[in-house]
Amino acid sequence: MSVPEPAGGEEAKQAKEVEDAEKYSFMATVTKAPKKQIQFADDMQEFTKFPTKTGRRSLSRSISQSSTDSYSSAASYTDSSDDEVSPREKQQTNSKGSSNFCVKNIKQAEFGRREIEIAEQDMSALISLRKRAQGEKPLAGAKIVGCTHITAQTAVLIETLCALGAQCRWSACNIYSTQNEVAAALAEAGVAVFAWKGESEDDFWWCIDRCVNVDGWQANMILDDGGDLTHWVYKKYPNVFKKIRGIVEESVTGVHRLYQLSKAGKLCVPAMNVNDSVTKQKFDNLYCCRESILDGLKRTTDVMFGGKQVVVCGYGEVGKGCCAALKALGAIVYVTEIDPICALQACMDGFRVVKLSEVIRQVDVVITCTGNKNVVTREHLDRMKNSCIVCNMGHSNTEIDVTSLRTPELTWERVRSQVDHVIWPDGKRVVLLAEGRLLNLSCSTVPTFVLSITATTQALALIELYNAPEGRYKQDVYLLPKKMDEYVASLHLPSFDAHLTELTDDQAKYLGLNKNGPFKPNYYRY
Ligand code: NAD
Repeated sequence: MSVPEPAGGEEAKQAKEVEDAEKYSFMATVTKAPKKQIQFADDMQEFTKFPTKTGRRSLSRSISQSSTDSYSSAASYTDSSDDEVSPREKQQTNSKGSSNFCVKNIKQAEFGRREIEIAEQDMSALISLRKRAQGEKPLAGAKIVGCTHITAQTAVLIETLCALGAQCRWSACNIYSTQNEVAAALAEAGVAVFAWKGESEDDFWWCIDRCVNVDGWQANMILDDGGDLTHWVYKKYPNVFKKIRGIVEESVTGVHRLYQLSKAGKLCVPAMNVNDSVTKQKFDNLYCCRESILDGLKRTTDVMFGGKQVVVCGYGEVGKGCCAALKALGAIVYVTEIDPICALQACMDGFRVVKLSEVIRQVDVVITCTGNKNVVTREHLDRMKNSCIVCNMGHSNTEIDVTSLRTPELTWERVRSQVDHVIWPDGKRVVLLAEGRLLNLSCSTVPTFVLSITATTQALALIELYNAPEGRYKQDVYLLPKKMDEYVASLHLPSFDAHLTELTDDQAKYLGLNKNGPFKPNYYRY
């Protein structure tokens, strides 16, 4: 899973939504669409200039940034028998005699199965999707090629897709984030998985290629996180798109690439932008950051928040989450903003809105979450007090001008993993976390429940695109219909024993709504 950027900006607004709420087959009964003729773009120039040989190859484009960023995932298991032999050189078979996979060590499968079972506990929406679908198999005949983080949580998604009737072949979208034992458990369960932690760049593309380039098996759906798989298919196997019914993309980067393809008239299948769906945005930005800001700070610094003075730069979704968490622990929170609406919101929520320069001498912690650059400059860093903690929760690592700290008069001392003390000539120390990269991505874990929202959204997007009748989706990028966003949320309500109120006929008429939703217009901001 990769961390999203702000709501996709203009591109997201241009995304198409299908208005007719009654159309979403899986929530009622699944009606199989006739096989769709997908128009194949003639102009494939951009994608045909790449090498054509399979196997080890020289790369014409490096892997996306999201392929090297990584969530520090849950405890990863290492077997002392693990050796340095590349999984590509190993002959491994699962207990059923299949060798249709490439993982670090198939013997770790049992441990991985336990990790998957733990994740299932907090992903009850996917489990209930499996139960609701029983007998229906809305993905029967689907051949999904996937490229995502391979963690216990994605394993729950993959196994859900299989339970819904799909055949899956999977590689990792990130060279560091694979939980080897989970990959082993998937391989043991019969999923064709090609991934291990610490792949080289060459391994990365080899794994993707092994998923796509298979004798007697051709994908008809793509689930991507970062756009690398989609890119690979475009450049190496464009004919595969003749059979593909749709692409589901999770990341900002991947979605951006899809919009670029669409604008250039080169997108030859429908694509679903999962990144900008309402539930995912809220959970990734607001709720996840509300939890993980404290986790990241505690793990790295053991700081006590009560009474501490903290300044949070940016009061968007991420900033709101961070401020709420810090306030709850008794911190004195200041906010900086450029936008009067967000500034006013901060005031209403009880925060002092200040300029950074006004408080920089007195604060104990500085957190950036603007998505902007040079928000904390060398001048600010020079004025901070001794032991001030500085970190970033925004996407780019340019929010804090870390480069300006790499000068001869300052000494850097690595005191812990992801923690540097930058020491001024007079002995003052500033505590810099994760070298200014995303704090929670680098130093904490992401709650399974947050990932459940994303995974459920991905599953529904796949079901929708796979079953959509001819003509519902064109060669364009779509947002998940609101009705399905609401369905994702509703699948998560039982975890809290939450009971929804139903509209009466009279009330529905009064509000001009269908009793079963959607309950809000597309422009509604939650
Ligand atoms: P947002 O657009 O809702 O909020 C950003 C806010 O920063 C805006 O209100 C903007 O007015 C303000 N801002 C911009 N420049 C500023 C400046 N110089 N000083 C003060 N305020 C300024 O975006 P968001 O959803 O809150 O996301 C913020 C960043 O966090 C993005 O880069 C996003 O990619 C990233 N993000 C991180 C995580 C994570 O897990 N850490 C999760 C989601 C998003």
